[in-house]
Amino acid sequence: MLLGCIADDFTGATDLANNLVRSGMRTLQTIGVPTAPLAGKIDAVVVALKSRTIAASEAVAQSLAALDWLKRQGCRQFYFKYCSTFDSTPQGNIGPVAEALMQALGATIAIACPAFPTNARTIYMGNLFVGELPLSESGMRDHPLTPMTDANLVRVLQAQSRARVGLVPWPVVAAGAAAIRARFAALEADGARLAVVDAINDADLHAIAAACADHLLITAGSGVAVGLPENFRRAGLLPLRADADELPDVPGLAAVVSGSCSQATNAQVAHWMESGRPAIRIDPLAIARGEDVAAAALQQASPLLPSGPVLFYATATPENVKAVQSTLGVAEAGALVERALAAIAQGLMTRGVTRLVVAGGETSGAVVQALGVVALKIGPQIDPGVPWTATQGEHPILLALKSGNFGSRDFFEKSLKQLDRTAGTR
Ligand code: ADP
Repeated sequence: MLLGCIADDFTGATDLANNLVRSGMRTLQTIGVPTAPLAGKIDAVVVALKSRTIAASEAVAQSLAALDWLKRQGCRQFYFKYCSTFDSTPQGNIGPVAEALMQALGATIAIACPAFPTNARTIYMGNLFVGELPLSESGMRDHPLTPMTDANLVRVLQAQSRARVGLVPWPVVAAGAAAIRARFAALEADGARLAVVDAINDADLHAIAAACADHLLITAGSGVAVGLPENFRRAGLLPLRADADELPDVPGLAAVVSGSCSQATNAQVAHWMESGRPAIRIDPLAIARGEDVAAAALQQASPLLPSGPVLFYATATPENVKAVQSTLGVAEAGALVERALAAIAQGLMTRGVTRLVVAGGETSGAVVQALGVVALKIGPQIDPGVPWTATQGEHPILLALKSGNFGSRDFFEKSLKQLDRTAGTR
């Protein structure tokens, strides 16, 4: 195993794993720190934590536990993945976790680079831009948990770190890997241990990755990862792989479970129903009245499943969600729906479903937990940021876990069609 990654949230972990697979590394994503060794041949592991907004001390403890496990798997280099909008507070958790990992690894310098130009996240002179706006003028300014009110990442990271934070400005990055390395040496000599690195395009990401080839720890968004496989290939450690995204062929029935109420998911549910495919609505108020909505939905779906995929959806318009929330409370409504959808996913497994698309970040978390999934092999991309995955174990199932706003309007149909195509070619 070459690369060991720690991600501070679940969909962020998938995003990173997806980039690694696309660059030719066989990658596994684990849900938390595994308790048993992993099976199968892989080049990289991404341990998905939920540590973005918990107390800094707890985030440090969980990240160190993940590092410890990754070290025992023999990884040569380590990667701390956070959001491309640098989601954090003055207390952390990016600075504290980065410093703790550096200390545990004996690393003398580490970069901090959330840039992901493909998704319009660029850094210039230490300032992070979201599209055309500085971070502090983007929607992130009003984030409920991690409002980002300063676009200057050197300042933001310094506020949450004990170590000195320096900058590798864009003209140095544009001059290439050797210039970046020279700048690292100068920063270290100056007492800096964390280096915010500018990047405005993919060539920058590749130059940064090349400059970090011998860094024990890289802290970044998912962008810098696209250049790492090339480092390992250059060192003769990684062959060119055309099959990094290979998944087992799992015959069986298919279904879609949707608990996301985002705009994109509403459009995807509407598209599914417009094409006349079977869809069963999950009503939060009926669950709250004590009806066994999951059992009823499964019963209704049973005769339909053998002839094609069925959609189960709690997805609703913002007005509808607000009405439900005002009756049940936000947290209670969310929890009731998540429990029902997770029970449906479990029930589908016993009815021969082996291919499941799940819409919604929290919903995916609930489903994965209910199915007892410990690790996912990352397969081919469906839409940017969303790959097919296969659960590890004796009886794998194929899962596509889509966070709310991802995916084209025909995402549900497209993802299932893609599986039929790949199965046909193997
Ligand atoms: P996203 O990725 O779009 O944020 P999530 O699954 O993370 O989706 O979050 C959606 C939340 O909304 C979940 O907690 C889900 O249970 C809840 N939910 C889904 N449908 C409804 C509904 N009709 N009314 C109220 N809450 C709902």
